[in-house]
Amino acid sequence: MNPTLFADLVVVGLGPAGRALTNRACAAGVDVIAVDPHPHRRWTPTYSSWLDELPAWLPTSVIGSVTENPAVFTTRRQSIARSYCVLDTSELQRALDISAARTLTATAQSVTSSEVALVDGTRVLARAVVDARGTAGIDGLAEQTAFGVVVARTIAEPLLEGAGAWFMDWRPDNGADSSDTPSFLYAVALGHQDILLEETCLVGTPALEYRELRQRLHTRLAGRGLTLSGNETVERVRFPVQPPRRERGDGRVERFGARSSMMHPATGYSVAASLASADDMVDAVRRGKKIGTLSAWTVQRLRNLGLRTALGLDPALVPQFFASFFDLPVAAQKAYLSGRSDALGTALAMTRMFPTLPTSARLAIARSVIGR
Ligand SMILES: Cc1cc2nc3c(=O)[nH]c(=O)nc-3n(C[C@H](O)[C@H](O)[C@H](O)COP(=O)(O)OP(=O)(O)OC[C@H]3O[C@@H](n4cnc5c(N)ncnc54)[C@H](O)[C@@H]3O)c2cc1C
Repeated sequence: MNPTLFADLVVVGLGPAGRALTNRACAAGVDVIAVDPHPHRRWTPTYSSWLDELPAWLPTSVIGSVTENPAVFTTRRQSIARSYCVLDTSELQRALDISAARTLTATAQSVTSSEVALVDGTRVLARAVVDARGTAGIDGLAEQTAFGVVVARTIAEPLLEGAGAWFMDWRPDNGADSSDTPSFLYAVALGHQDILLEETCLVGTPALEYRELRQRLHTRLAGRGLTLSGNETVERVRFPVQPPRRERGDGRVERFGARSSMMHPATGYSVAASLASADDMVDAVRRGKKIGTLSAWTVQRLRNLGLRTALGLDPALVPQFFASFFDLPVAAQKAYLSGRSDALGTALAMTRMFPTLPTSARLAIARSVIGR
């Protein structure tokens, strides 16, 4: 007979989201079983976020580098009056200690709100189940892709042009045809030694392929005086920016992390939102409540509209769109980019931008509102 295990909480998936939730639940005295086929897999991506998004409980050792007022180049150079940080991935994983949980090296076959059936036949029953399985490998969702290289700071520093980082550089010097899906340069310091230079396709259905992004990156950097040797450490980025649709009947399973509305569909950021939401989720689990609120639902709907706009915009208008966005007061930018509960702030940010856009961009947005 197959074994049956019992716990207060089962967390399915131990990426940044599931691991943060497991860590915080254990810290709160909750009895947790965590399931992942590779629970101790070493994380390698470079995770970044706005510094003000990180929860106070996270040790500062996880912050690899901080850039004040990162620059953007839209139709002109602008700067963002916020602190942007690159996380130290190994430190983050270490800080999210899960040794107090019972960890199962296993794959979930089915997940309901009170039971997880594992592929090996084990059943795990719990008062609460949280699905943090991420979205890797799920087809048909809008994706973000990027191709990056790590270059010594001594060589790449001039490319920053005095800015600590390029959050987005939309200058059209990457060789792409102006009617093609656009991409931008993302450039941030990794510690004191290195700089990550990444050609990024913010979102696409499909998003740009690595070969195209690599070509654009090489063209852009060569034009700015940096010829890559081809021996640089490479980072390839591909992940869905939307959660998968819920199957009939699974609406009662709590989702967490990239599989949920913590994934920002118009930017692809989710890690900081998951870290910041972990305690709320633990609280909801302990009280037997759902984590979602009407405000969070509304924010998600508004951000989905942002995704549709990004997908529907004429490539030539993208820099103007972001110029208008980064002209907004930083509080309005923050309401749209960060947090999940400020529906009014998100709506105000979007409505304040609208009149500042050219007519063709406003028409594109109007089309996404009415879904055409
Ligand atoms: C190179 C790269 C750079 C990125 N940079 C950033 C960034 O700067 N900022 C940001 O916010 N986001 C970034 N992202 C996106 C970010 O990786 C994801 O949003 C993040 O990993 C999501 O975390 P998660 O824990 O929700 O899901 P995941 O990291 O996908 O973790 C899901 C976990 O579930 C497990 N799992 C899957 N199926 C099952 C199953 N059936 N049973 C049990 N376990 C299962 C998997 O093994 C995995 O460990 C980046 C992504 C990449 C690839």
